[in-house]
Amino acid sequence: MVAIRPLPKIWMNGRFVDWDQAQVHVLTHGLHYGYAVFEGIRSFTTSRGGAVFRLREHIERFLDSAKIYRMEMPYSVDELVKACAELVRVNGVPETYLRPIAFSGYGQMGLDPRGAPLNVAIANWVWGPYLGVEGATKGVRAMVSSWARVDARSMPPQAKCASNYANGILAKMEAQAGGYDEAILLNSIGMVAEGPGENIFRIKDNIVSTPPASSGILRGITRDTLFKFVADEGLTFHRTDFTREELFTADELLFTGTAAGVTPIRDVDGRPIGQGRFPITSRLQALYEDAVHGRAPKYEKWLTYVD
Ligand code: PMP
Repeated sequence: MVAIRPLPKIWMNGRFVDWDQAQVHVLTHGLHYGYAVFEGIRSFTTSRGGAVFRLREHIERFLDSAKIYRMEMPYSVDELVKACAELVRVNGVPETYLRPIAFSGYGQMGLDPRGAPLNVAIANWVWGPYLGVEGATKGVRAMVSSWARVDARSMPPQAKCASNYANGILAKMEAQAGGYDEAILLNSIGMVAEGPGENIFRIKDNIVSTPPASSGILRGITRDTLFKFVADEGLTFHRTDFTREELFTADELLFTGTAAGVTPIRDVDGRPIGQGRFPITSRLQALYEDAVHGRAPKYEKWLTYVD
């Protein structure tokens, strides 16, 4: 757990305000009912200064989340892309995590959010690898959660909505209380879905697979990035469901996410994965690190330079 260290500014409803001034009322509608959609984006240090990775795709997903929840976003993709890049530049730290959020504000209670103004804010801060530096190199220990992933018939998992994360918090806290680093959630029919804030990939006999979007997951942008890597590396790849026991029998397992990057999983429910080595994961991780830091010309199109 790392405390947030303030940076100078936060973008809030169209303008930059001082970090300490970016406040809301306790009767903020979205705080009570979880009516908030958000994004998690990273900026990285490159030889040309700070750059945001796959910024447009993140903002497009942000607007898609808003659309699913009937939120009328008052800003365009271009405006939000520009605001994110400017924020990184204004705050003067190239390597940060960015958090755009849209939420129903103060002015109306009861479930119907109409009447509460929609607030849109973007903050950034310095945040190391979500599952730890050691986790990223040596692998993390995961636990299959007793909590099922929210089902698409109840909550749309493809919307990055704050309320979905109550499900993730239950799983995360259960895993940590059990001495694990992270949870793996199954969906309502018992197939592997994802982590609370990560997608999951399985490697067996050199074949890479990941659950399809229809398994009830967030369509991760890092997941999509790996699709490109596995194609470019000539690896055999399937979008396919797999079961809990197929976690145990994998040669390698890995999590992907903006916060977590590409993180190997070394153990599930106390069973070591494969031979304790993760050669393909390491290759994909190295490609990811090169891409985000602007060291791979082939993937430079994914970077938005802030200077
Ligand atoms: N699943 C969930 C539930 C998440 O919160 C995240 C993080 N946004 C991911 C998967 C990974 O998505 P991305 O690679 O776009 O960060």
